[in-house]
Amino acid sequence: MAYDLQLTNVYKTYDNGTPAVIDFNLDVEKGEFIAFLGPSGCGKSTTLRMISGFETITSGDLMIRGKRVNDQLPEKRPTSMIFQNYALFPHMNVRQNVSFGLEVKKMPRAEMNRKVDQILEKLGLSDIAGFPTSRLSGGQRQRIALARSLVVEPDILLLDEPLGALDANLRKSIQNELKLLQRDLGITFVFVTHAQSEALALSDRIIVMNAGRIEQISPPRELYTRPSSQFVARFIGSNTILPGTVLEQTDGIVVLQTAFGPLAGANLAGIDAHAGRAMSIILPAEAVDLLPADMPEQEMRAGFGTNMIPCTIDRLQIVGHIMHMDVRFDDGQKIKVEGHVDKYRDRLKAGGKAYVAWKSAKATVIDSQEA
Ligand code: ADP
Repeated sequence: MAYDLQLTNVYKTYDNGTPAVIDFNLDVEKGEFIAFLGPSGCGKSTTLRMISGFETITSGDLMIRGKRVNDQLPEKRPTSMIFQNYALFPHMNVRQNVSFGLEVKKMPRAEMNRKVDQILEKLGLSDIAGFPTSRLSGGQRQRIALARSLVVEPDILLLDEPLGALDANLRKSIQNELKLLQRDLGITFVFVTHAQSEALALSDRIIVMNAGRIEQISPPRELYTRPSSQFVARFIGSNTILPGTVLEQTDGIVVLQTAFGPLAGANLAGIDAHAGRAMSIILPAEAVDLLPADMPEQEMRAGFGTNMIPCTIDRLQIVGHIMHMDVRFDDGQKIKVEGHVDKYRDRLKAGGKAYVAWKSAKATVIDSQEA
């Protein structure tokens, strides 16, 4: 399989001794939209800069389309980079900004004009081609930065928090445009962000980083519903973490002894779940069923086994077709649950008792200690 981008055992230690990226391994297929997600300082930008060539690699291999490019200069690589502040040239108009990369390459004028016209058209910038960039809005500047990066026809587009400078509404609409554009062009995008909503909305796969290391590589939905580490379970989505010790494992379902009695989840990573091992159940909010306290116990057991935790309903709120429920366990732990109104209306009331319940296969068990 030929990959567009491959990082193999890549490390980066800065001259001052900071280990910024540790044993990074990733294979990216052509046309994938990849996001690097993680808190500030976890090594996202360093990794992106190593791919672009603006930062050297301490050890490991970086391959683009099967060719090792560790020592290749940035301008020789088939990559283009968009920076958070866009780095537009304020003294040039839109067209001159967009043509810049082709001018540098000394492309014949007729060919250059044709390519520039095409990309201005694609990004809806034709009408403002003669405007100075300094007077344009954030959204327009964003599009100019995109046009300037794409006109050189890179194999891989690298984006460093490109929506960071935009307000929330604009971010949403540009997110959509970006996704459509990427699909249309079919080129590989590698995107850095610390905003999970952005990564979840845009990417085919998300690389979650923490302190220089990869924590998890997954498609958005899987990351949301199946976090594979304590860090990811806390950082992404809305998970309840229920620590315990292993009682038994049957057919990939592990039962833990917890503060709420025996509770179970799926052992997707194939961890050696021997009796007594300290593990946690990761329960995503969307896996939770809220059962009214007066439901016959037999019926509850048939659906959910022992996966039931008594709780008090603090608040019920209906927004559209969705019921939002704030509930509290007896130990004070609060969780949020949501579900379709038809399922919950008339069955639950604020201030009343209920059970948080789930099917074992919808929760995941992971180690309680970080690796
Ligand atoms: P992120 O993009 O996830 O915020 P960075 O890649 O910018 O993280 O930084 C990762 C680590 O490397 C941080 O500890 C940061 O302080 C350090 N770092 C980044 N750039 C440099 C540099 N030029 N010199 C020394 N340390 C750096």
